[in-house]
Amino acid sequence: MPEFSFSEEQDMLRKAVRNFAQNEIAPGIKERIEAGKFPRELVKAMANLGLTGMSIPTEYGGQPIDWVSVGIVIEELAKVDFCASCIPFLAAPAPLVLQLASSEVQKKWLPLIASGDKVFCMGSTEPDCGSDLAAMKTKAIRKDDGYIINGEKTSISYGMQADVMITLAKVAPETRRITPFLVPLDSPGLVRSAISDMGWEPIGRASIILDDVKVPIESRLGEEGQGLYKVLPSLGVARVLAALQALALAQASLEDAVSYSKQRIAFGKPIAEFQGVSYKLAEAATQIEMGRWFCYRVLWMQDQGIPHDKESAMCKWWCPEIATQIIHDALIIHGHVGYSKEYHLEQRLRDVLGLEIGDGPSNIMKIIISRDILR
Ligand SMILES: Cc1cc2nc3c(=O)[nH]c(=O)nc-3n(C[C@H](O)[C@H](O)[C@H](O)COP(=O)(O)OP(=O)(O)OC[C@H]3O[C@@H](n4cnc5c(N)ncnc54)[C@H](O)[C@@H]3O)c2cc1C
Repeated sequence: MPEFSFSEEQDMLRKAVRNFAQNEIAPGIKERIEAGKFPRELVKAMANLGLTGMSIPTEYGGQPIDWVSVGIVIEELAKVDFCASCIPFLAAPAPLVLQLASSEVQKKWLPLIASGDKVFCMGSTEPDCGSDLAAMKTKAIRKDDGYIINGEKTSISYGMQADVMITLAKVAPETRRITPFLVPLDSPGLVRSAISDMGWEPIGRASIILDDVKVPIESRLGEEGQGLYKVLPSLGVARVLAALQALALAQASLEDAVSYSKQRIAFGKPIAEFQGVSYKLAEAATQIEMGRWFCYRVLWMQDQGIPHDKESAMCKWWCPEIATQIIHDALIIHGHVGYSKEYHLEQRLRDVLGLEIGDGPSNIMKIIISRDILR
């Protein structure tokens, strides 16, 4: 990392994922958006390349790589199809929480994620609380040989299609402490309903009601009210990956705007020759470059075991915001053409807005940063 370059293996990985994305993923984007589904065959195709086992130990069927390389995978997929990048995105942080489980539970679930046979989703948000997670109402009450879970989760990415949810609940509802549970989504008492969204169509979001859902004791991840806090510092990595997804959408839009502005003629010359256009491109290129390197530095910190709460929060608020502006500018540079669904720009604009909110909006990230610098 101090050399400020990627290793030869990382460059090769980038190339391999780029080829895969262009050949296997790009052709079906439109159909997947229309169908509102992300096909399991494609999840399996990603699994065959090791993209769903990147943070899973080899003994559990994974093909572990460093987090900088995970970032490369997510970035390259998102440049071609944002929703495709969500599949490794969902698979990558889940094993960090599953480390809290017994070895039997890990032995059962981790190979299924690595092989692409099962997809996880993350259930923390509720109708009445998102940012203030400790205010959650979902309860897991100990009974005989397990727990009975009651509550409602909402805004769950891939919630209609996933197989199992890492469900955050309170074992002692009078406290603010949270415990994660592994809940298969075909459990009796669980009802899911789709949310109609402005973007992310093939991934989608769902509300999930848990009505007396019974899970065995082994489903509890870590000790009651304790476990989550042990893995929380490493979970910030998801925010960095989300930032890279946003920058990838911005980069793809910038590339479109560069090529369009060179060939679109107005007032007798290519619009790229007007500084009002070329300065926008220059600003976008600068911001993307700065954002990317900072994201990769934070992933490197994760690889070194260096805490990065503040830095991952910086990535998460800044990158989606600049990406939204860059995609917006790229769309305007395309004039009337940019407003059409024939181009990817309007889709990217709708998708990137979800990244501004999901996993914590800007204000919440700024609370984390300001707490750290004012401490
Ligand atoms: C596309 C998408 C995918 C998502 N996927 C998932 C998922 O897979 N799993 C999951 O559990 N959740 C998911 N979410 C939910 C997401 O994590 C929450 O929306 C987010 O944490 C914010 O919570 P909220 O929506 O309840 O907003 P609120 O917490 O109600 O906040 C609303 C607004 O008020 C602001 N605000 C709140 N508190 C403060 C404060 N103290 N100071 C200043 N401003 C404040 C926020 O910045 C925000 O703009 C997803 C959301 C989206 C849009």
